[in-house]
Amino acid sequence: MQLTNKVIAITGGARGLGLAVAERLGKQGARLALLDMSAAALDEAVSSLAALDIQAKAFVTNVADEQSVQQAFADIASRMGPVGGCVNNAGITDDSLLIKAKEGVVEKRMSLSSWQKVLDVNLTGVFLCGREAATQMVEAGHQGVIVNISSISRAGNMGQSNYAAAKAGVHALTVTWGKELARYGIRTGTVAPGFIATDMTASMRPDMLERISASVPLQHLGEADNIAQSVAFIFENDYFTARIIECDGGLRL
Ligand code: NAD
Repeated sequence: MQLTNKVIAITGGARGLGLAVAERLGKQGARLALLDMSAAALDEAVSSLAALDIQAKAFVTNVADEQSVQQAFADIASRMGPVGGCVNNAGITDDSLLIKAKEGVVEKRMSLSSWQKVLDVNLTGVFLCGREAATQMVEAGHQGVIVNISSISRAGNMGQSNYAAAKAGVHALTVTWGKELARYGIRTGTVAPGFIATDMTASMRPDMLERISASVPLQHLGEADNIAQSVAFIFENDYFTARIIECDGGLRL
């Protein structure tokens, strides 16, 4: 797909991987609609992109809320035109083990609210934004691309029942939409990052991060632009749909 002047919505676009994706796609001529919770972070992101001559507009949105998502996509269409691409990147973690047994006492560790919160943002958010994006693409008679950001944790990971289940679901949406939407000229793809240096990983214990880096075959964390490159590849490659790119330094071999 030729990105010049294409409107591409990026959720969680105010920082981290979302902002790196905005930078890479913006350098190829796309106009970006950044959707995020934080107005201040969005303003900063829009200014940093403007300094690179990249056009971006901010849309304060909670991807887990149907009304907020519908409003954001309606605003994008009226301020920028219908979307031709959507990168579902917003995500959170709230880790804990399922249960913990100590001295014969078994405690429930992951609460239902923690489960629900992560599923709402990381899976329902992808569903809601993907549905709005596909609707706009088909109404406008445009070809389009939807890229969903999953994680290597989709294969299951200690302390991440909520996150792993959501991220496995994200790829299931990519495959389902790849099958359902090809008839309208819409392609899909998943990018599953390994451990990438962003605020999300900065919140992990330093000794744990060091252990993880040492266990990656390439021996270091990834950079946000490594993920942006994978997203750009899916946009560029017209024969790619419904598949996953695992960009993890070889961690999940
Ligand atoms: P980050 O925490 O740096 O940024 C996430 C962004 O999403 C933030 O700007 C935040 O405000 C936004 N966001 C959170 N909840 C939202 C909501 N309800 N509505 C709208 N925006 C919301 O995270 P990141 O490291 O850039 O991660 C981006 C994506 O990549 C996430 O889906 C994450 O699960 C995935 N991922 C990251 C890594 C990594 O190592 N960093 C690894 C695998 C997968």
